[in-house]
Amino acid sequence: MDCPLPAQYSMNFLNSQFTKSIDQHINAIHSDLVAFRKCLHRIPELAFEEIETTRQLREQVELLGLNVDHEKFDTGFVVDVENNPEGKSLPLVCLRADIDAVNNSDEKECDYKSQNRGAMHGCGHDVHATILLGALSALAKQKNQPNSPEFHVRAIFQPAEENACGARYMMKLGTIDGADSIFALHVDPRLDCGVVAVQSGPITALCDEVEIVIEGQSGHAARPYESIDPIQAAAQLINAIYVNVPRSIDPRKGIVITFGSVDAGNSHNVIPNRCSILGTIRCHDAVQRQLGIESLRRTVDGIAKATNTKIELNLGKHLPAVNNSPQLYEIAHRAGVQTVGENNVIPIELPSLGGEDFAFYQTKIPGFLIRVGSSSPELGYPPLHSSRFDVEPDTIRVGVGLMTRCALLASQNRGIQS
Ligand SMILES: [Zn+2]
Ligand SMILES: [Zn+2]
Repeated sequence: MDCPLPAQYSMNFLNSQFTKSIDQHINAIHSDLVAFRKCLHRIPELAFEEIETTRQLREQVELLGLNVDHEKFDTGFVVDVENNPEGKSLPLVCLRADIDAVNNSDEKECDYKSQNRGAMHGCGHDVHATILLGALSALAKQKNQPNSPEFHVRAIFQPAEENACGARYMMKLGTIDGADSIFALHVDPRLDCGVVAVQSGPITALCDEVEIVIEGQSGHAARPYESIDPIQAAAQLINAIYVNVPRSIDPRKGIVITFGSVDAGNSHNVIPNRCSILGTIRCHDAVQRQLGIESLRRTVDGIAKATNTKIELNLGKHLPAVNNSPQLYEIAHRAGVQTVGENNVIPIELPSLGGEDFAFYQTKIPGFLIRVGSSSPELGYPPLHSSRFDVEPDTIRVGVGLMTRCALLASQNRGIQS
């Protein structure tokens, strides 16, 4: 679908004096942004605990002379930046960055290593927040400048992406009310820094949290026949699920189920009463999701019968897929080309089985999430959520260029409809 833009925002936009001045500003603030990202990286905070992260970000935004809307938020905040000298009715364009950390330990050796035990920025949200700060700085600089385009941009510093609650929290507090579009980016360590991936349609998976509680009867480890062992039931159950669920759907369509936590007992010679298991099930379409869940239920019931345990299966939070608006594709693509050059903007061949709560905003307004290459052979491509995760510093320069351009291009577009 085409997205008409005024002539002055054609591909030549990159070469205009105006865009050069934006790039100059981004280059001038880059080293400060890299240093600030290291500050955030040292103090990672988990979902809805981002008190210090919020404070530091707010302080930086206020230094730009912008008024922060923070009182109604426990963590995170929202800030508007406008260039609207004639008080026109402009499209409201949102830029969103998540700010929370991952529940893992930081095993890198560097001077900006996590100082908070059990938390680290393993998903690059420190980078996203820094990029949004940089975009705000670039936009604030254009305020009341001759020849600057008009814009009304809202920056959303969102808490709690990792537990998939933050986007809904911000939406409930009216953050995107009246907005016309929303953009975000996510670092992608599978791609080299300087490469940007842009794709309309679904780019992540439908995700469901899975909780399984197995009730047995405790007893002596030497005499399992006097007890009902929930750990041996768990062992069978996990293996059976890993076989049955993928084999219950068309393998060309793909499903993944992974358990990330198994918790039972606290002694080497006691059979415990219960075992709880946490996991996630992910796929790309609603029919396969249903088939996968039915197979999961059947497997749970079968193993409960076979092991004489009681097994409860609870499906937790459901996350829709990030579904990029075709109407915003042209803007995101142009922003990419103008930032890193045509050869470095690539499509996303297949949607990932990851999840992103940015999807919730897209259920209300057109939204677009761009993947931003963040790694290099020197860095070694450590995956998201790993204890060695890091990014190339230049990812920030690319991200600021992208977000600023998405905001300006979308601000000139009055025809966006959901
Ligand atoms: Zn993550
Ligand atoms: Zn993330």
